[in-house]
Amino acid sequence: MSLNNKHMNDWRLQGQERYLGGIKLTHRRYKPMSTSWDHDHCEFCGSKFSVHQGDFAAGYVSMDLKHWICDGCYNDFKERFHWVLVSEADPEAEV
Ligand SMILES: [Zn+2]
Repeated sequence: MSLNNKHMNDWRLQGQERYLGGIKLTHRRYKPMSTSWDHDHCEFCGSKFSVHQGDFAAGYVSMDLKHWICDGCYNDFKERFHWVLVSEADPEAEV
């Protein structure tokens, strides 16, 4: 028996389907939400996004720019979460 369930037990999965399942994502450079908040973390692995060296400078983000997902987690979970990738030029990507 070979159940392909490695993602089912992934430590990074903690019920994100509730708010990340099937949403639209766009790949863009990280931009802080405000001057008092200069970083965000990947919704899955916790990797840091910021404008500082050593942190991720770009990644996948929800249309409201609240949820960031790093490239690695995007690739690992894109089938499971059915994300819809839109380009930044898409009018709906404008907030
Ligand atoms: Zn990640």
